[in-house]
Amino acid sequence: MTTSLVLVTTSAGGADDVALQALALGRRLAAGGPVHALVIDDEAAAAGLGGWGATAVHLARHPSLGVAAPDAVARILHDLATQLGAGVVIGPGSEAGNTILARAAARANLPFAANCIDVKIGDPVTVTRQRWGGSLLEEAAIHAPVAMVSVAPHAIPATPVDGTAAVTPFSPELDETDLAVRVVDRIAAAAGGVSLAEAKVVVSGGRGAGSSDGFKPIEELAGLLGAAVGCSRAVTISGWRSHTDQVGQTGTKIAPNLYIACGISGATQHMAGAKGAKKILAINKDAEAPIMAAADYAVIGDMHQIVPAISAEIRRARGA
Ligand SMILES: Cc1cc2nc3c(=O)[nH]c(=O)nc-3n(C[C@H](O)[C@H](O)[C@H](O)COP(=O)(O)OP(=O)(O)OC[C@H]3O[C@@H](n4cnc5c(N)ncnc54)[C@H](O)[C@@H]3O)c2cc1C
Repeated sequence: MTTSLVLVTTSAGGADDVALQALALGRRLAAGGPVHALVIDDEAAAAGLGGWGATAVHLARHPSLGVAAPDAVARILHDLATQLGAGVVIGPGSEAGNTILARAAARANLPFAANCIDVKIGDPVTVTRQRWGGSLLEEAAIHAPVAMVSVAPHAIPATPVDGTAAVTPFSPELDETDLAVRVVDRIAAAAGGVSLAEAKVVVSGGRGAGSSDGFKPIEELAGLLGAAVGCSRAVTISGWRSHTDQVGQTGTKIAPNLYIACGISGATQHMAGAKGAKKILAINKDAEAPIMAAADYAVIGDMHQIVPAISAEIRRARGA
């Protein structure tokens, strides 16, 4: 039995999925011990965490926490972990989660294992974690009094439980140095409404799209399927789409039921973000493109003809 402390990041819709996955790990590692959740300034998200395995929820409130400030959250996490005597400190393996956990670990002078897919309590604690954007799994041991880990997205299922947890609001101590790094501006993701990380279907375009206009048929198909639009780095580097649409090692990791990759070669760094897809349909004019090795289905041909033809067929089948 140990004490787990889980950082639960939130967004407009409540707790982030990957944070609930982290909570599931926290519950398993606590093995009947207390599972504490830390939430920053989001009362609604905090209220539901008992149903995801938390036994106590700490809600940090501070006038400066209206924007993301990783050092400030790292300090709060570190102070709370110390106060609770936590044996494991867990966070979501998202960009935000890893940023905060790394800073909290530096404050505590502890090692930090990011993007774990499994953690075993023992002496030492051992982890299996993703390296190189998920193309390599590493077994590692944490020789430290407290294990600080983050959970790779989609590696551990979030598990609802029949439980409730009291929410305890508190005002953390912060000073100017904790707030030196903070978000000062946000660029909204392209409209569309379906989150790339959580979409059930993703339609992506690569260099084969040829231009930003080449994404119009992709957007149309995505609209018909209720899908999110993604892209490769060749596309974001060309300025055809925003970085928020990029799938891959340095983009978003996706796990849809269906990934439709149009004009994408399937470079290792791209597939690092797409390997969570249950089925892949590749549309490519090159039958030898590397993506064919990962594809469940393939259409060999020009995406500029094939993508509109799929949309037309969907419309015809729906009688529209
Ligand atoms: C450190 C690092 C990190 C990286 N991170 C990422 C990342 O996160 N995500 C990412 O995507 N990449 C990433 N990359 C870049 C990656 O290595 C590739 O360069 C990139 O994924 C290639 O994009 P692409 O498949 O669109 O282009 P290409 O490799 O040029 O492939 C284009 C494909 O389109 C096909 N095609 C062309 N015209 C048509 C047509 N009309 N119809 C059908 N098919 C057509 C071609 O046959 C080809 O297979 C990273 C690279 C590095 C070094």
